[in-house]
Amino acid sequence: MKKFCLTILALVAAAFYLNAKDIQQPTAATILAALKEGNQRHVGAHYFHPHETAKYRQELSAGQHPLASILSCADSRVAPEIIFDQGLGDLFDVRVAGNVAGDDEIASLEYAAEHLHTPVIVVMGHQKCGAVSAAVEGGEAAGHLSALIKPISSAVQKAKHLQGDLVENSVRINVENVVEELRTSKPVLSELVAQGKLSIVGAIYSLDTGKVTWLSESASQTAKN
Ligand SMILES: [Zn+2]
Repeated sequence: MKKFCLTILALVAAAFYLNAKDIQQPTAATILAALKEGNQRHVGAHYFHPHETAKYRQELSAGQHPLASILSCADSRVAPEIIFDQGLGDLFDVRVAGNVAGDDEIASLEYAAEHLHTPVIVVMGHQKCGAVSAAVEGGEAAGHLSALIKPISSAVQKAKHLQGDLVENSVRINVENVVEELRTSKPVLSELVAQGKLSIVGAIYSLDTGKVTWLSESASQTAKN
């Protein structure tokens, strides 16, 4: 099994790294499958720790071809390379509390999608998110925090109509809102989505289990394939 997974990782990495015209770039489904396999290794604490050697680091100085962009929370417990068991050059991380998408975050994702040709964006919220909890608590946030909490508030308002835990429902709806915001973001991301060159999927990370749950049905199906 380990050998099989390593082979998939190697193929995905080779297709990007070599960037040869006669090598087909991995599809979004292949990349999501690789991320899902990496997350299974994280859940089981059986890490491959790919792409961490000094040799690979030196090779990467020639350029980067990350598999996916990950818009995730700045929370210290939500590190994408560890959660997906990936290494240097594999993930284009955009991290901000509450995984919101302001101009700076969208610009970073546009750079990866347009200039690095990274075909997948994962918007990843997480269990017990402090930024979402602050938005649920409401009131006046100190300093610059109010600017972060404001875009999460609409998710909280929607979640108030649902059964279940308000923070966890707000985390999920916030991810769904950000996914939709990115999919319709003009002019760059929406155009790449329309051309079939970019897939944007939502996910939730469990602090308890280490498992990533994929939100959209299509993402779940492709990740299983
Ligand atoms: Zn958080």
